[in-house]
Amino acid sequence: MTAPVRSGDPIIVNVPLGARGYDIAIGRGLIAELGTRVAALRPGAAAAIVSDRTVADRHLAPAQAALEAAGLRVRAVVVPAGESSKSWRVLESVCEELLAAKIERGDLVVALGGGVVGDLAGFAAAVVRRGLDVVQVPTTLLAQVDSSVGGKTGINSAHGKNQIGAFYQPILVIADTALLDTLPARVFRAGYAEVVKYGLIGDAGFFAWLDANWRDLLGGGPAREHAIAISCRAKAITVARDERETGERALLNLGHTFGHAFEAAAGFSDRLFHGEAVAVGMALAFGFSARRGLLPAAEAERVVRHLAAVGLPTRPADIPGTLPDADALMALMAQDKKVRRGKLTLILARGIGASFVAPDVDPAEVRAFLAEKLAER
Ligand code: NAD
Repeated sequence: MTAPVRSGDPIIVNVPLGARGYDIAIGRGLIAELGTRVAALRPGAAAAIVSDRTVADRHLAPAQAALEAAGLRVRAVVVPAGESSKSWRVLESVCEELLAAKIERGDLVVALGGGVVGDLAGFAAAVVRRGLDVVQVPTTLLAQVDSSVGGKTGINSAHGKNQIGAFYQPILVIADTALLDTLPARVFRAGYAEVVKYGLIGDAGFFAWLDANWRDLLGGGPAREHAIAISCRAKAITVARDERETGERALLNLGHTFGHAFEAAAGFSDRLFHGEAVAVGMALAFGFSARRGLLPAAEAERVVRHLAAVGLPTRPADIPGTLPDADALMALMAQDKKVRRGKLTLILARGIGASFVAPDVDPAEVRAFLAEKLAER
């Protein structure tokens, strides 16, 4: 947690991936610079903006105007809002629309939206004409700190979430923090869980700073840009060290294995947003770490207190509706492909900012812990 809060100029975070490296520009009102920044990278290119209906109604016009003012020919492709757009059907329609709009190699796809649009448009860009450049313009907090950075793209299959996809890095990410002003508070808070995650993984100072500054961040003050920049830097460093998740990148899954089970149990619905599931998952990962004697119980309590103060769920009891029993949750965790040779891989912690990959967790121990937590409902 190093860089001081700055205002005015955008903050630039570089993702150092050699020839595939790129900048993330973070700042309030940056969408006005979308055209000049894109034109500087790809002079004379045409652009197809892919967005969802909700985002397009709010933010398509300024994005389009900025690109046109810089001399780009622009087409818009709008898909329905929501997770169901990460499907073969919608992917096919986006690819066909890009081809119909005569978006050629050397032209661009601009993904204007949350993680759904970023994953879908990024994957379409990876496969249409064997690869079009993509610029990510994330419009949710989750997308600004997580999904727009790192190159994971894809859609869902009947066999599970994100099962069809490609690693495909963008050439530029523009995180205009003013776009977040139109987000429903609950969607914003869900994304905030991913911000806290970076502190919990490897930056105790950032966690302490968030504990002191989260109100300003939620309120749209300068803490917002700072927190997004610190999060993007943490993700950029991790991705640069392990682009294809053969090792260290797995740390970014803190809270996700527990979280995934609850998210799946809730049917990937509005009952429990992804970030909310991650909040519950992180609280459980710290609780389980404390149970194993890896860290003091008071440290795990600090995590729970912070997440709860922000208004995020931290216990199974906070999830509305019925939940399956511990055995069924364990089966859902196994589907997350984190079980190998009868052992479970979890991200655990020796303290706030000291998370690690534990590849040898006994599922029986996790099952007993989950059963106990479910009994608190
Ligand atoms: P989302 O894209 O569905 O956006 C949430 C909702 O907010 C949608 O209804 C959307 O229309 C609306 N919205 C978006 N921006 C808005 C704005 N500025 N104002 C008003 N409404 C707005 O969901 P998300 O939480 O951004 O992303 C979740 C997706 O991201 C999941 O599919 C998940 O698998 C994926 N993801 C991918 C990665 C990755 O590395 N690629 C990482 C984490 C999550």
